[in-house]
Amino acid sequence: MHSETFQTSAGFEPFETWESSIRAYCRAFPTVFASASNARQVDENGRSFIDFFAGAGVLNFGHNNARMKRALINFIESDGIPHSLDMYTTAKRDFIQAFADTILLPRGMQHKLQFVGPTGSNAVEAALKLARKVTGRSQVVAFHHGFHGMTLGSLACTANRYFRDASGVPLEHVQHAAFGCDPLCEGCDLGCGMQSIEQLRNQYQDSSSGVAPPAAFIVETIQAEGGVKVAAREWLLSLQALAREVGALLIVDDIQVGCGRTGSFFSFDGMGLDPDIICLAKGIGGYGTPLAINLVKAEHDSPWSPGEHTGTFRGQGLSFVAGREALRYFEDAHFLAEVKRKGQVIREQLDGIARDCASTTFNVRGRGMIQGLDVGVGTLAKTIAARCFDTGLLIGPCGTGGRVIKVIPPLTIPDDDLQAGLGILTEAVRQAVEAQ
Ligand code: PMP
Repeated sequence: MHSETFQTSAGFEPFETWESSIRAYCRAFPTVFASASNARQVDENGRSFIDFFAGAGVLNFGHNNARMKRALINFIESDGIPHSLDMYTTAKRDFIQAFADTILLPRGMQHKLQFVGPTGSNAVEAALKLARKVTGRSQVVAFHHGFHGMTLGSLACTANRYFRDASGVPLEHVQHAAFGCDPLCEGCDLGCGMQSIEQLRNQYQDSSSGVAPPAAFIVETIQAEGGVKVAAREWLLSLQALAREVGALLIVDDIQVGCGRTGSFFSFDGMGLDPDIICLAKGIGGYGTPLAINLVKAEHDSPWSPGEHTGTFRGQGLSFVAGREALRYFEDAHFLAEVKRKGQVIREQLDGIARDCASTTFNVRGRGMIQGLDVGVGTLAKTIAARCFDTGLLIGPCGTGGRVIKVIPPLTIPDDDLQAGLGILTEAVRQAVEAQ
């Protein structure tokens, strides 16, 4: 995706002339999009694409969600406050109250909401800073294949070398350890993850190991960018136990797989996890309107002094309004039951693809509406994604060398679009495998 140049077309000219060579997704999806609705994006030539990419996990509630659009229009027409730094506003109060009522209180959670600049990286930066402040320690443990952002602190936690190599300075104070994949997740190793927890424990216990306990462990319950690697529940619980033992904080980065993606609001619901800090971004703003929040256990929040981790864009009125509408989806169980059902539909189709390509070593993994098809090598995944684009489906690869096709449609995708998209994907895989 990074080195390719796409065909020059009149419509691309301003981008190619003026926009930085850093642009990436537009190289995989070489057209100019003009409009979008739910799980469809339409380009300037009127070509409609089914969206299995959802803005890299932002558009959980679809493009131009009708309920949110109405609320946003009303808000704008009534001169609501679009930007407020961290001043009190009606829109922010409504969001906070709805979040407490719908998400925190039913779970007995007493976490504080820390609004940060509206990107996932910013949430991670703030979480790291707070964990270091709370514990007085500097080292953090992150995991192989983890992705936590692009700013220096968050990038130090991100494992991917391509991204790390762009940092220009040493990425310090983070150690990477083995991730404990679900045993069903073939090719990965829960054993490795368990061993690495044991090793870390031994090192922390041994006063002559030269390794001091960290400020925090930061983990994704499903490594989305890292190749849809699903952590085993028992491993996550062991990690939590280790964190408690050594006085480190457990940070769950739920930026991509939270907000309903897995069939529950948090990706770890029902697992017995009680993270000290939960990072949320992407889908939490509802409409693609940017918002990021850390949920911080009350006892860890008090070390913050007013304005100590600031950021101009923390008072995102449009995001509060759309995000408040998004929370209505979690007021009854129907929406999440649908996410689980559609997730199963995706899973069965991918399992079918893997079975039909029995000669290869395809592996399917995921939970709810994040599912990955690991086709073994990046070149094949890239061919599949390109064929999908040519036949009307937006889908992207992830994981080491880009070898995993990641399926993350909007959670609100209608059944016929879901079926049609899966049909396109199946055919693209068949053709790409045959052409090998
Ligand atoms: N954490 C996770 C798990 C992510 O998936 C991402 C984005 N892909 C980030 C952090 C960084 O978010 P942002 O790009 O909004 O800074």
